Amino acid sequence: MQNLEAFKIEINSPKKVVITTHHKPDADALGSSLGLAGYLNKKGHDVTVISPTDYPEFLYWMKGNDTVIKYNEGGQEVSEKAIQEADLIFCLDFSSLNRINELGELVRDSKARKVLIDHHLEPEDFATYTLWSTEAAATAELVHQLIIDLGDGDMIDKNMAECLYAGIMTDTGSFKHPNTTKNVFMVCADLIGKGADTAKVAKLIYDTNSVERVKFLGYALNEKLKILPKYNTAYFAITENELKKFKSKTGDTEGLVNYALSINGIKLAAVIIDRTEAVKISFRSVGDFSVNEFARKNFEGGGHKNAAGGISYLSLDETVEKFEKLLEENKNELSTNLKTYA
Ligand code: 5GP
Ligand code: MN
Repeated sequence: MQNLEAFKIEINSPKKVVITTHHKPDADALGSSLGLAGYLNKKGHDVTVISPTDYPEFLYWMKGNDTVIKYNEGGQEVSEKAIQEADLIFCLDFSSLNRINELGELVRDSKARKVLIDHHLEPEDFATYTLWSTEAAATAELVHQLIIDLGDGDMIDKNMAECLYAGIMTDTGSFKHPNTTKNVFMVCADLIGKGADTAKVAKLIYDTNSVERVKFLGYALNEKLKILPKYNTAYFAITENELKKFKSKTGDTEGLVNYALSINGIKLAAVIIDRTEAVKISFRSVGDFSVNEFARKNFEGGGHKNAAGGISYLSLDETVEKFEKLLEENKNELSTNLKTYA
């Protein structure tokens, strides 16, 4: 953070603080928010964590989960009041205010000073204080850095450490993605030193599936995986009915895209899902193909070079058609063979 000294003065006297994160928060969004909330509570601030929407139940174990206001689930009034009265609003794990739905305008209009902590590409310029780095694997890594830079590393306890560890574990794909740097391991070593039980966190996030979720995975792999060798692309298109049939809950489709990406030679993977409001798309890539650019240009989305998301207001079939057409347009980049390690 460039103006750390000014921020330090702010943070050293009690404030009314709001922490907010993106639509359908994942483990990094929620973990960095609750890790930071734990710290700010200890510093004597009055902290409200607001999520624009619900989030997966496999994140409910995080300390502070029971205090999170869900804006779209009866939390509207409380959120509006907290945002209006806030001195400081932290925006975590997103870079543009449209990622927090209606909350975006409230945050923009609030007199509070804004603090952006994020690792996504192309941030919007709305914050007074910014801790932004695309080198960071996770926003949780940046929250850890901020607490250390403020000289408060000793205040990180087991609960905060587990929230932050969860963000780093998931955003590095369990330490498999190229964003797994030396610093990632240094930070995780520190978090383990603070008491983080890494086996517990992994179990709670990855291995608490419902039977329906596992069966849905089997169904999707068997029946729904489409491979287009010409473009080194594999994708799933999932209908609303299929979600209903497998009693799919928020978070149940998370990770599906990685199975498409795991196929040897695949450069681009997608999961295209018919949600009631719109069609939501997750993109992943290996190598130089930037799904951030692809999602930004074609699906009102964005994210990182190798992991991004977007949205479509066409029908599912039309969205798939548009996607396949775009593959043809990007044929030059996609059709060359993936560079392998061998
Ligand atoms: P996921 O596919 O796991 O939902 O998201 C992958 C990455 O892309 C995450 O970093 C997420 O924040 C970002 N992302 C997902 N959907 C969108 C979107 O609609 N707009 C933008 N700007 N980013 C998104
Ligand atoms: Mn993140």
